[in-house]
Amino acid sequence: MAEDALRVCRRCLLLESGETDVYEEIQRHIEKIPPKDKTPAPLYQSRIDACRQCGHLVGGTCLKCGCYPEFRAAFIKNKCPDTKKKPW
Ligand code: SF4
Repeated sequence: MAEDALRVCRRCLLLESGETDVYEEIQRHIEKIPPKDKTPAPLYQSRIDACRQCGHLVGGTCLKCGCYPEFRAAFIKNKCPDTKKKPW
């Protein structure tokens, strides 16, 4: 197995990690979130920007909770699982 195949993109969201199928599936789920439960776009973007700076983000997955931040951040009621730093 080539060494490149083992590389994991640190601090990459699903969008950037090459997991195109998973990214598209997550986007389909996000589109189905009722408007009252959905994070407004500017807040969503600030959450995602915080995730990009976070050491817990590896290959599109948050290692703090095992979720996809792009999905977790899409729900207004959700919070970042890092209760010490509280990035969002
Ligand atoms: S710990 Fe919070 S800021 Fe870090 S990747 Fe997870 S959800 Fe994003």
